[in-house]
Amino acid sequence: MSTRKRLMIPGPIECEANVLAAMGEPVPGHTAPGFIASFGQCLKMMKQVWQCPSGQPFIIAGSGTLALEMAAANLTEEGDHALVLSTGYFGERYARILERHGAKVTLLEAKTGHAITARQVEEALSTKKYKLMSFTHVDTSTAVKMDAQSIGELGNKHGVMTILDGVCSVAGENIRQEEWGIDVVLTASQKAIGVPPGLALMVVSDKAIQAWKERKTLVRSYYADWTNWLPIMEAYETGKPAYFGTPATNLVKALEKGLENIINEGLEARFDRHNRLGKAFRTAMSLLGLDMIPASEEVSANTLSAPILPETISLPDFMQAMGSAKVAIAGGLLPEIKTRYFRVGHMGSADKEDLRLCVEGIAFALNECGMNANGEKAWRTAIAE
Ligand code: PMP
Repeated sequence: MSTRKRLMIPGPIECEANVLAAMGEPVPGHTAPGFIASFGQCLKMMKQVWQCPSGQPFIIAGSGTLALEMAAANLTEEGDHALVLSTGYFGERYARILERHGAKVTLLEAKTGHAITARQVEEALSTKKYKLMSFTHVDTSTAVKMDAQSIGELGNKHGVMTILDGVCSVAGENIRQEEWGIDVVLTASQKAIGVPPGLALMVVSDKAIQAWKERKTLVRSYYADWTNWLPIMEAYETGKPAYFGTPATNLVKALEKGLENIINEGLEARFDRHNRLGKAFRTAMSLLGLDMIPASEEVSANTLSAPILPETISLPDFMQAMGSAKVAIAGGLLPEIKTRYFRVGHMGSADKEDLRLCVEGIAFALNECGMNANGEKAWRTAIAE
């Protein structure tokens, strides 16, 4: 009997069979005609999934942190003012990355479990002139979701470029990049895109490309410099190979399948599925007697959840009891509260059956720790609502 657990941490996630099959193909050369076609298709499909038909997509070997650093490196120069809206660990971290590239950062931090409101953003943008503003759409340390549309619109109103960290949201939460006027939307392959880790992905608006072209100083990272990568992306999109750094060829083949899966499901259907499963999971947790880190439904992400353990249960005991469950979940991440909660990813191809197993596993572990929880009933009730 297989002892493999379903991977329900908030990334990397389980991948569909066709994605894994593409990973396992004989390694394609980066100038092979089939590979060039796949790379071009990926770039075109990204514009569809990002809902940004006139944006410039980039596919680079690296993790989500590279995508964040690439946006920072190309869009900031020494002394530029940046506003970072932080709802957890990843917002705080982005402030450090922007500073490394010369930005003077103002960090606007939300109380744990809360989002930063449009009114707070408006106030911050009215009191100081910023070149750019970043926010984490879904912070994976808190499961708090920000209102991407209002922030994009406020950025436009105040003439500030916006960077959306969508590592835990792209392809799981709705983002209309072009309509909402967001300049950079970035992610990594291993989350709701449904591909193994290893690709940094982003789509950049024409406005941001123009701002980068008008830089007075060199980009401070050689690998991240769009000067090196833009011609490569343009070449592959028009069916020609080009070289700057060797692309992760098997991962690009896998990305082609991942993006096809998303487009075949349909964006609206996919967001709706995430919405329904996210809601049902939160309801099930509440029926088991657990509160959540996000303070309200309105700010709760649909790609992952962060339930709080009762004070009587320690995280190590709970995680040990989860060892016999059929799913793998993650502990807390936000340093000040990391031993008080756990995290469950329900993005990409996660389905009702995965969530049922997960809820039952959590109930089992809670019971091992002295609670009296009925997982089967909680899930049945939650999914029927
Ligand atoms: N931002 C967010 C919201 C994330 O969840 C993560 C990864 N968990 C990152 C950035 C960093 O991505 P990576 O681990 O792929 O470098």
